Amino acid sequence: MARFLDQVAIVTGAAQGIGRAIATRLASEGCSVVIADLNLAAADATATEIRAAYGGRTLALPVDVIDRAAVEAMVAATLAQFGRIDILINNAGIFGNARFEEMTDEQWRRMVDVNLYSVFLVSQVVIRHWLGQQAAGAIVNLASISGIVAFTDSSHYAAAKTGVTGLTRSLAMEMGTHGIRVNAVAPGIIATEMTRRSLEAPELSGGWLRRIPQHRYGTPEEVAGVVAFLASNDASYVNGELIFIDGGGTFAWDKPSDAQR
Ligand code: NAD
Repeated sequence: MARFLDQVAIVTGAAQGIGRAIATRLASEGCSVVIADLNLAAADATATEIRAAYGGRTLALPVDVIDRAAVEAMVAATLAQFGRIDILINNAGIFGNARFEEMTDEQWRRMVDVNLYSVFLVSQVVIRHWLGQQAAGAIVNLASISGIVAFTDSSHYAAAKTGVTGLTRSLAMEMGTHGIRVNAVAPGIIATEMTRRSLEAPELSGGWLRRIPQHRYGTPEEVAGVVAFLASNDASYVNGELIFIDGGGTFAWDKPSDAQR
């Protein structure tokens, strides 16, 4: 299957984790991918792995997604290399724990900047290009179940991810007439570097696992499959949507009975 033949995607935060799985999935279906990340060495390694596996075109770029000049340079470099942009995946993000009463201004601002302002900034630079070219495109944003249900000690992350969901819906409405679709996914608990420390703490992960009907965490590849669907023409009439990728755990108030396992 080559749903993305001749298409070009920018995936932010694609050096590792979910972003790497998304870039790999898109490339496996014929897409040229820009692997944009703060960590250039890891982005380069991902680009090399993708080329080795699928032989496609890749470009690794060092980008801080909250730096307007760097984001504009990323878009310019993408156009110089590939001549077009069809898909933007706003995946770059950070997580951290802080008790609300102890949270510093710097912790709040950094969390909201990297997780939410970046989605505004990168989308705006790409959308300005699309509007200038009368081009269509698809954006998929990484929201989170943390924007829907409550976790302790991460109110700044929750606020930012709730913002991503609201921004997605508003942008879908504003951009629909230009043929630009904007959707989001809300992953549950996915085993990556971001969640490694929490998953190693049995007092946390035991409680979470019991609530998830599938009784396991998700993989980056399972997120990538849904993101690829939303980015593709298979989702041509899906706009402003938020899809949960959570094994059914987010709204499972009761824990599934042992008999169901
Ligand atoms: P990760 O920490 O494994 O990877 C994040 C990547 O983003 C890294 O490569 C990092 O270098 C990059 N990055 C961070 N700040 C950046 C910046 N300012 N500019 C450019 N790149 C930057 O995380 P992950 O688990 O793969 O998460 C990816 C996305 O999915 C994030 O937006 C995260 O909030 C979201 N998400 C993750 C989970 C989960 O359980 N892992 C759940 C819900 C949502």
